[in-house]
Amino acid sequence: MAEVKPVLVVGAGPVGLVAAAELIRHSVPVIVLEEGAELSGEMRGSTFHAPTLDMLDSYGAAARMVEQGFVAPLMQYRRRDHGVIATFDFGVLADVTRHPFRLQCEQFKLTRILHDILKDKPGFSIRFGAKVASVTDEGSHAVAVLEDGTRIEASHIIGADGAHSAVRKSAGIPFEGFTWPERFLVLSTPFDFRSIIPDLADVSYYADPEEWFFLLRVPGGEPGGLWRAMFPTAPELSDEEILSAEFARARFARIKAGRDDYPTRHRTLYRVHQRVAETFRRGRILLAGDAAHINNPLGGMGLNGGVHDAVNLGEKLARVWHGEAADTVLDHYDRQRRGVTVEHVQRQTIANKQNLEAKEPAAQAAFRERMADAASDPAKAHAYLLQVSMINSLRRAAEID
Ligand SMILES: Cc1cc2nc3c(=O)[nH]c(=O)nc-3n(C[C@H](O)[C@H](O)[C@H](O)COP(=O)(O)OP(=O)(O)OC[C@H]3O[C@@H](n4cnc5c(N)ncnc54)[C@H](O)[C@@H]3O)c2cc1C
Repeated sequence: MAEVKPVLVVGAGPVGLVAAAELIRHSVPVIVLEEGAELSGEMRGSTFHAPTLDMLDSYGAAARMVEQGFVAPLMQYRRRDHGVIATFDFGVLADVTRHPFRLQCEQFKLTRILHDILKDKPGFSIRFGAKVASVTDEGSHAVAVLEDGTRIEASHIIGADGAHSAVRKSAGIPFEGFTWPERFLVLSTPFDFRSIIPDLADVSYYADPEEWFFLLRVPGGEPGGLWRAMFPTAPELSDEEILSAEFARARFARIKAGRDDYPTRHRTLYRVHQRVAETFRRGRILLAGDAAHINNPLGGMGLNGGVHDAVNLGEKLARVWHGEAADTVLDHYDRQRRGVTVEHVQRQTIANKQNLEAKEPAAQAAFRERMADAASDPAKAHAYLLQVSMINSLRRAAEID
């Protein structure tokens, strides 16, 4: 019998390493190829939803994440004048998840934890400084060619190489969608906003017709944690203007009148897109995570959706690899995960942005009423939080044939 080649995972971000963990759990040999000399130290995503933590539990990663992160039991919508529109308690989800909260924890902690769990497992290997230039499907196997010309053969290739995915481009898969005109500025400070904003939850979204923003508390390597504030910025401003200390002070000044003297730890500017790959599968080439879909960060769904892709794909690909399923199950992966990405994640993240920035008083009032009503009794809150925490999107995926 011909030897079955390992699966190649391109990219050692959170999605690539979860895909590797799922494959290794099912005794499939995996080689991870990572362009960087080491795992990325970028903070980026910091929100982990309940079902994602339930999944990470299977690899022994969830408890370590909880240990290194902040458990956020509450989520709030507020008005610019600091009035609370609605407070939701994730505790109502205790009947459907082992993790009824949002975890605020930098994504680079997940990659380190997964790498630590995987590094000595039989069948797992990772190569740093290995930038994939192109991939091809040769019918009986797939081939990745590195920038230095090295060829690596694999049974299948998972492109988990982020938004600019070389795997997606090499496979000729279009990445349709649009880019928002405004960029998002993320500022972080060790100043504890709870000392000046009564009842502030660790996850708080501010709706405002002039300038929405959100405040999230993350560990950030500081004794009391860091607060991350995210603001939209006007398209006509230059990066230099936006990233200046004066601009940061002016944004911070709008959080609470009379204060602008917060020490700033990070100032980062992001261009934000809504794009979905035309397919998540082309023969032996598969896409997952940001390589397959990107969206605005309101609701923390990009990274979480990517982890959900990786688990779904890893389980199906393992069956194909072991000869227990026809490779058409990989089309099922595409239908399920691309289906809910379009129906749920794209739609929800666009709606989240539109709700916070609504200019019309009638639209603002309607959003406030909907949220206050949803938070007004545990059954309504339960229904709303199933959506917010992406449990509904997973249930919907499970229904897709
Ligand atoms: C400001 C901001 C805040 C966010 N907040 C959240 C949040 O709270 N919750 C959430 O769910 N999501 C959030 N996201 C989105 C989240 O960061 C991404 O969805 C997540 O990083 C996707 O993971 P990934 O593994 O698919 O890709 P990446 O994290 O981009 O990892 C890709 C990896 O592939 C490697 N690579 C790239 N090209 C190659 C190549 N050619 N060869 C080999 N290796 C390669 C890269 O070096 C990298 O290590 C946020 C994003 C931003 C920008």
